[in-house]
Amino acid sequence: MRIVLVGPPGAGKGTQAAFLAKNLSIPHISTGDLFRANISKQTELGKLAKSYMDAGNLVPDEVTIGMAKDRMAQPDAENGFLLDGFPRNVSQAEALDVALKADDVKLDAVLDLEVPEDEVVKRIAGRRICRKDSSHVFHVTYSQPKQEGVCDVCGGQLYQREDDSEDTVRKRLEVYHTQTEPIIDYYRTQGLVVTISALGKVDEVTKRAMDALKGDK
Ligand SMILES: [Zn+2]
Repeated sequence: MRIVLVGPPGAGKGTQAAFLAKNLSIPHISTGDLFRANISKQTELGKLAKSYMDAGNLVPDEVTIGMAKDRMAQPDAENGFLLDGFPRNVSQAEALDVALKADDVKLDAVLDLEVPEDEVVKRIAGRRICRKDSSHVFHVTYSQPKQEGVCDVCGGQLYQREDDSEDTVRKRLEVYHTQTEPIIDYYRTQGLVVTISALGKVDEVTKRAMDALKGDK
């Protein structure tokens, strides 16, 4: 299956992408991984991307599209893939269509993870990270430490990252609405959009997604 995963920040997209790719035996292609891999291997596209990033600029669509195309041409993606973080705007979606058409293949579904906006803010703004080890993550509501402000694992101090502040989250949601949501409408006209609720436990959401994708076939 060839799937595009979309959803707002805080929807648990990366986690779901990993589980779904495993269940469907297809590679999980995330933009973050694409950038890291191309930059560390110093490919032409990687060098180009890095030059924009080092200058504090956005990486142009053509560069991202080039990396995604290279990755989709790898043998393990022959029977399908799950795209996460790409396309992130309509012009990338159009470029993806052109690339797939050239290979005479089509997307099977665009899985849209839906989370109410207030829930997104609650999820992200409630996160508390350990100062000693950023992999120790807590939440003021969903995963409270035994002692407020103190890491259960190592006793480090817990804090809220600036990126996780309510203001920043609202800004990120705004970017999502203006740039990424139009791709859902774009794919809706192609009859590809499958919307599921991303509320609940991780495994429940995965099951819901799997059922929806099967039902769609
Ligand atoms: Zn800790």
